[in-house]
Amino acid sequence: MDKRAFNFSAGPSTLPLEVLEEVARELINYKGCGQSVMEMSHRSKEYKQIIEDAEANLRTLLDIPENYKVLFLQGGGTLQFSMVPMNLMTGSKKADYILTGSWGKKAAKEAEKFGDVKIAASSEDENFTYIPEITKDMIRQDADYVHITYNETIHGTHFAAIPDVGDVPLVADMSSCILSEKIDVSKFALIYAGAQKNIAPAGLTIVIIREDFIGKAPADCPVYLDYKTHADKDSMYNTPPCWSIYVAGEVFKNLLAKGGVDAIHEINVRKADKLYACIDESEMFTCPVRKEDRSLMNVVFVSGDDAMDKAFVAAGKEEGLLNIGGHRSVGGMRASIFNAMPEEGVDALIDFMKKFEEENK
Ligand SMILES: *Cc1c(COP(=O)(O)O)cnc(C)c1O
Repeated sequence: MDKRAFNFSAGPSTLPLEVLEEVARELINYKGCGQSVMEMSHRSKEYKQIIEDAEANLRTLLDIPENYKVLFLQGGGTLQFSMVPMNLMTGSKKADYILTGSWGKKAAKEAEKFGDVKIAASSEDENFTYIPEITKDMIRQDADYVHITYNETIHGTHFAAIPDVGDVPLVADMSSCILSEKIDVSKFALIYAGAQKNIAPAGLTIVIIREDFIGKAPADCPVYLDYKTHADKDSMYNTPPCWSIYVAGEVFKNLLAKGGVDAIHEINVRKADKLYACIDESEMFTCPVRKEDRSLMNVVFVSGDDAMDKAFVAAGKEEGLLNIGGHRSVGGMRASIFNAMPEEGVDALIDFMKKFEEENK
């Protein structure tokens, strides 16, 4: 394949072409310092600038208040399934989880090792095809936190609004939607996101934590799993994921240059709307997710016939539409249309869906 394909993978996922080109230009000799970012000391003055700029630009993009720390960690979203309860489930040792897909379910299962987990609400009864209604009386008001998965990457659901959980600290997994829409960070105690969905290459996990939630881990918490360790050292307790942080920083600059989160959100809405419209108008494909709860980032759909789904995914690949198969646990199709997926990619997918349907009536 000579030209770049449109990659609909849910992660690692497509990156902005301009960022890849910039990174390629700087690859061998970063800004004339004679070495690549991959090779440079994380304690060097060049690298210090890279990580500081990355943080500053992320703060601007998300309008992160002063009393929140930004941490650049490793271990993926998955490690946060453990770190969140290890650090925060330390008061009443109760935490409430709202399950809207596979990731939230995994997070809750891990948290059970550390205390009393209650499933406050779940949409598993209908295969995670909707976001349950949440009212604060469903939440134990003495819980240390409530956990939600803001966007469920596998099931294609998304919270249209921040749920009202009363005064209980809210923790959100935003791995697959961070920077896709404006969010009010001040409504959250902690937000985490693996970078490989909507930000950067794998290896980096971003945690945004309100300062008063740092330092709550018990004394026997392994040093590396204590948020305080990383907060005290500005994510430089040990070698950070230097390369991923650098690329993330380039993505942040690129997003700022494109007008920031509001501007990209408008494009995201347009991309998702036309893809869902195509699915809803089709006689072959359906989207199982309730309309108001549909993700802007991960569009799931099925033909109702496994063999047809497989044929569709294979034929798509031939056309340069990569990774449109659903997650291995649910099958069907999923088009991840993150910030970096150009609108032409969505248009190409829509054209292909129409052609495929026509040819397979
Ligand atoms: C991908 C994903 C995870 C797991 O991420 P890893 O970085 O692979 O550990 C967790 N939560 C959500 C919402 C995800 O999309």
